[in-house]
Amino acid sequence: QLSERLVRVATYVQKGARIADIGSDHAYLPCYLCLQDPELRAIAGEVNEGPFQSAKKQVIKVGLRDRIEVRKGNGLAVLDKGEVNTITIAGMGGGLIAAILEEGQEKLEGVSTLILQPNVSADIIRKWLRNNGWLLTSEEILEEDDKIYEILVARQGDDTKLYQDNLEQKLLLGPFLMKECNSIFKKKWSYELLNWKRIVSEFEKATPSEQVKQKRKSLMNQIKMVEEVLQCQS
Ligand code: SAM
Repeated sequence: QLSERLVRVATYVQKGARIADIGSDHAYLPCYLCLQDPELRAIAGEVNEGPFQSAKKQVIKVGLRDRIEVRKGNGLAVLDKGEVNTITIAGMGGGLIAAILEEGQEKLEGVSTLILQPNVSADIIRKWLRNNGWLLTSEEILEEDDKIYEILVARQGDDTKLYQDNLEQKLLLGPFLMKECNSIFKKKWSYELLNWKRIVSEFEKATPSEQVKQKRKSLMNQIKMVEEVLQCQS
């Protein structure tokens, strides 16, 4: 059975899409999508041999060899230009997801939708999207097995309006998530706040080098931004 996290990722894939799932591991997501939608075709990309073999086995097991191609390679290098209109990358850190997109820039031509599910550091992805002509269109936050995950969906477009005000805050917390401000969002950021405050109090005990001062200043700024948002009333 597919995890709730991947079920939620799947809800953003359009009917009949041509998708590439990068870092597919067992190819559970493309298999699920193909079983749900007879028109959908997928490429499952994997850089590591073990997961690549698991993906191949799974695709054969569910009888989807004619609709899911499993390819071995780094990030978007497994794709030819224009082959897919949707890319999913799930279950990795935001830094790695952004690096995969950055390295594979030229393969993004013709891709209309990116569905990205970072386990941590979603802000790095928001910054990458913003700097590379992608418009964030939806965000979701969910909790499963005591872990909190975010899902970011983007299409090519201008994001001037989205980030008109409170840019720094929106990049860190997510413009849609901070507006919704649901209980999982509050839980995540309350926890981060506690952690940052603990670090700041450690800094106060340390010898105040220039580096410590800078780090402390930036953490204090983050704390202020998050505290402001957590005043929300939902
Ligand atoms: N996407 C699945 C999910 O969300 O459950 C699997 C996530 S698993 C934690 C991350 C997978 O990404 C691993 O199987 C790893 O081998 C693969 N991976 C990491 N870096 C990659 C890259 N640069 N290109 C392709 N696959 C990568």
